[in-house]
Amino acid sequence: MKQRITVIVLGHVDHGKSTLVGRLLFEKGVVHAEEIERYAALGAEMGKASFKYAWVMDRSDESRRRGLTLDLNYADLETRRREIHIIDAPGHRDFLRSMITGTTGADAGLLVMDCQEGVMPQTREHAQLAKLMGLERMVVALNKIDKVGYDPAAIAKAASDVRSLLEGFGFQKPDVIPVSAWDGQNLTVRNEQMSWYKGRTLEEVLDVLEPRGGPRAGAFRMPVMQVLQVGGVGTVALGRIERGAVSEGDEVVVMPVDKIGIVRSIEAYGKKIKKAEAGETVGVALRNIGKLDIERGDVIGPVDDPPRAVEEFTAKIVIIGEAGIIRPGWSPYIHCHTTAVPVRLEAIEMKIRPDSGEAAGPADTGFLTSGDAAMVRMRPLKPLILESAEVLPGMSRFALRLGKETLGAGSCVSLRVAERLTVASDADTKGFSYKHKKVGSGAKELKKRKDEESRDIWGKPVDKEKKSRKSKKDDKVYYKEENK
Ligand code: GDP
Repeated sequence: MKQRITVIVLGHVDHGKSTLVGRLLFEKGVVHAEEIERYAALGAEMGKASFKYAWVMDRSDESRRRGLTLDLNYADLETRRREIHIIDAPGHRDFLRSMITGTTGADAGLLVMDCQEGVMPQTREHAQLAKLMGLERMVVALNKIDKVGYDPAAIAKAASDVRSLLEGFGFQKPDVIPVSAWDGQNLTVRNEQMSWYKGRTLEEVLDVLEPRGGPRAGAFRMPVMQVLQVGGVGTVALGRIERGAVSEGDEVVVMPVDKIGIVRSIEAYGKKIKKAEAGETVGVALRNIGKLDIERGDVIGPVDDPPRAVEEFTAKIVIIGEAGIIRPGWSPYIHCHTTAVPVRLEAIEMKIRPDSGEAAGPADTGFLTSGDAAMVRMRPLKPLILESAEVLPGMSRFALRLGKETLGAGSCVSLRVAERLTVASDADTKGFSYKHKKVGSGAKELKKRKDEESRDIWGKPVDKEKKSRKSKKDDKVYYKEENK
């Protein structure tokens, strides 16, 4: 079986992310020439002919009208040795959150940069966030080299700029591949105008990407992305296994609600399997777990080493966007693995340098504002299952959001597990209109947490119409419904 790799496409708006992915899918035969021609014709009518490749990925009408990538979009392609799942993240500021969600599950980033424009604010921001979210591997597609007339000097200059940016954030030896997404140069075929270029094509680099590191062995952990009720099968939890393995017949516990069930069956990529391991995205059918016992954001683990809720944690965070002045007491939502709960900033322990993460020397720790990075102490106001970056990176990274704004991102450095039954006192939840759940009490049955938005299995928010279409398709992929 080919190694499966998830790659997230990042970069400044208009630098050609969607065009590059669309062209790549076209060259790999995933998308046919007729489809591209259809988009070209449609684009000509709208005066946007240059988006014919981009539209392969931007399927929504709104996106077409604005010429922007609005959501996370997905595509799959195969190289000689890899099955590659591509996530096209939006380049527009408002949509940082989707980028963060996408990055959590990615093995590598593909940073698209316009060779002529060079490093722009979102090039920098995406690279920095990706690193904070634990991505180790970044590949750069230095795009639009046709615009500089394939000039080696201009290309070398842009390549060196982006390389030093990435190295500054701690990415080791990033690959920089000069490409023209529009002309189809150096994506899958080598270009005659670039005879001086002796490096690999984008496809050749993708073909040797390795899955993200991190402990694959250890107690089973699967954050639940989505719960399905499937006729003849029952409750099915979908998610990416962050650590360990799960087998048919295993006794598992759903936390923080503390519900015990048995694994009835497992499916991955449309096939029934007996055992699934870290890194795989699977559907796990659970016996003894009812519809109300489990929801998105819960974590499944073995009964003898269950996932635990945290009482308090220390994290490295960076503040972005229109954050204003942030002081202790600030209570955003933390979006971590598949969950979102309110947290409170308890203390700013130390300011750190946003690029290297090292101590920033003596600095005022009374407040934080956009662009600041710091080591902070936070307390969840509802049960939150989190791990430190050292123990399990995939469950340590998070985004901080308030309303629709993403105001920060970070990863947990250390934590204290909750010992009490409830995570926070009533006073702690002041300002929030819900009553928080009890840890381990099964209170889920009484009060179902309202998810902020409905999302599909990859964590992508979906509108109602899309959702019904999408979930039918997904159900079919994972579990064929027996009788409708
Ligand atoms: P995104 O916002 O990063 O997804 O960028 P798009 O893929 O929507 O592209 C923005 C614009 O750049 C479109 O008009 C594309 O046709 C154009 N573009 C993308 N790649 C290239 C390229 O390699 N060369 C040239 N000249 N234009 C490109």
